[in-house]
Amino acid sequence: MADVHKVLILGSGPAGPTAALYSARANLDPVVVEGGQPGGQLTITTDVENYPGFPDGVMGPEMVDLFRKQAERFGTTYLSAEITAVDLSRRPFTLEAASGETLACETLVVATGASAKLLGLPSEEKLMGFGVSACATCDGFFFKDRDVLVVGGGDTAMEEATFLTRFASRVRVVHRRDELRASKIMQERALKNEKIAFEWNSVIEEIHGERESGVTGVTLKDTRTGETRETPTDGVFMAIGHQPNTGVFAGQLDMDEVGYIVTEARSTRTNVPGVFACGDAQDPIYRQAVTAAGTGCMAAIDAERFLEAEEG
Ligand code: NDP
Repeated sequence: MADVHKVLILGSGPAGPTAALYSARANLDPVVVEGGQPGGQLTITTDVENYPGFPDGVMGPEMVDLFRKQAERFGTTYLSAEITAVDLSRRPFTLEAASGETLACETLVVATGASAKLLGLPSEEKLMGFGVSACATCDGFFFKDRDVLVVGGGDTAMEEATFLTRFASRVRVVHRRDELRASKIMQERALKNEKIAFEWNSVIEEIHGERESGVTGVTLKDTRTGETRETPTDGVFMAIGHQPNTGVFAGQLDMDEVGYIVTEARSTRTNVPGVFACGDAQDPIYRQAVTAAGTGCMAAIDAERFLEAEEG
């Protein structure tokens, strides 16, 4: 049997290391497991200007480093593993890693975050980072006086389109229907922005370009008629929502229809006693670094109290 950790934390964005910091300071020797994208979404961000305590801003990757240093200072151990299966039906809980290694724990803190959804086109994958992006805040700067497309009709798409008008000469929102999903106030802001135009009832069928030269255009398909047309552009920003990274818990932890883990009100407790969820994996609403860190703290306190109550 593998060593049984008192507190095992999955995820190393803002939520995981904050949970670790609190658990370590409670002498629970936490272990943080980093997955395929250590640091999570912060690592694809440049300047973070809305995290209190950094009046001059801080780079996302630097912030991830600082979180880790602070957690390690109090005795947190970091492991790198891709968890492929979990058994939460009995304690200690067990987790299987892709390497074949098994981890075991008394309490589990799920801080696996969320990832931007993508269209799933081969050309999108080929050009990701070469004119295709899922983060306007990160990459908008590279599109000064250029033409860009934003895909999606929700709040994220409106926010990204509006933000991109600071740099781009023209922003076109590509939306698959003729009605936006975004909140009224965000819609109005985008609709009245003279730099923003809309490609209604349209989806991207293909993105043209090469890694060396970047994006040159797209093929759009009309969702009503099926007709296709080509249009030149320099960049494509995906803003079609986020997917929580919770697939490995399917069937064991209660989730909403999208896959966000359901926690009890004013708590990080899940339906499995001893399993706690924090950060974007359970938050479809706020999705901020600071709120993720806040719920990470809550999860650590919940885990500590759970263990304490057991010890009686
Ligand atoms: P949403 O799920 O709200 O919107 C996703 C959009 O992408 C929809 O318009 C959807 O189209 C479209 N879409 C989804 N999949 C595809 C696809 N495969 N091809 C083409 N289009 C697709 O996600 P958001 O990220 O916009 O928002 C998520 C949550 O975060 C919401 O609750 C939102 O209010 C909140 N948020 C709030 C902000 C703020 O207040 N400042 C900023 C950003 C987000 P369709 O409409 O047809 O389904």
